[in-house]
Amino acid sequence: MNNESGAAKLKAMVEESRYIVFFGGAGVSTESGIPDFRSADGLFRKVDNRRVSPEEILSRDFFRRHPEDFYSFYSSSLIHTDARPNAAHLALAELEKQGKLKAVITQNIDGLHGLAGSRNVLELHGSVQRNYCMECREPYPLSIIVESKGAVPRCTLCGGVIKPDVVLYQESLDMALLESAANYIAKADMLIVAGTSLSVQPAAGLVRLYRGDRLVLINKTPTPMDRYADLLLNEKVGQALGPFLPQKDV
Ligand code: NAD
Repeated sequence: MNNESGAAKLKAMVEESRYIVFFGGAGVSTESGIPDFRSADGLFRKVDNRRVSPEEILSRDFFRRHPEDFYSFYSSSLIHTDARPNAAHLALAELEKQGKLKAVITQNIDGLHGLAGSRNVLELHGSVQRNYCMECREPYPLSIIVESKGAVPRCTLCGGVIKPDVVLYQESLDMALLESAANYIAKADMLIVAGTSLSVQPAAGLVRLYRGDRLVLINKTPTPMDRYADLLLNEKVGQALGPFLPQKDV
């Protein structure tokens, strides 16, 4: 489908819908300057003379065994204090304000949906904004990680290692949050899935719970769910959702 007819179809679908749910991944934030993992090869690291993937570095085992290498990667690749919401984040906040969009479900940990003004955001993988001491559970803001400049941040009360409140590989997701996400998707009359390769579970499983006939998939590259989409847009998320940005006062 060309961009023009795709845009018109998306607009018509949004107009007809009353309970839109959005499900997104790292591709939603690339236009804010935060790289995803699958598009870029540059996020691989050398540890003990071995080429290590971002997924391995962001695992529970790796965090325990190599906290220094974990934080060196995490601070440089996943912390982007200058990143600002892009057209996609802002358009979704506007659709929520209009009462059309009921929930944003995200695999991202960057907090940009909240910064854009979205209120009902289900952060399945947690957030870089929240951190806590693994020994005494003292909570810490993002600034403790930024100020550590890639070194392992330590609790100022007990000296324990501080861990970001993000779900690492090998860790389980918050079940109540997952159930809530599943309920939103099952109730949706339109599901917009964007900027996700749908290769990390439970993403693909959640999308399968959608029962309506307005499944929109916006992704630059093919995904395993493309054939189920009622509307498939192989373009940038910000470009596809740009028309839903707030109208400027005239
Ligand atoms: P992913 O599996 O969700 O893949 C990203 C997808 O988005 C790719 O298919 C890519 O082609 C597409 N894409 C990239 N930019 C796009 C754009 N502007 N418009 C449309 N499509 C675009 O994500 P991943 O990068 O493999 O990351 C896996 C996990 O790592 C995520 O679930 C997340 O927890 C974490 N992560 C988070 C962030 C973040 O918070 N911003 C960034 C990187 C990774």
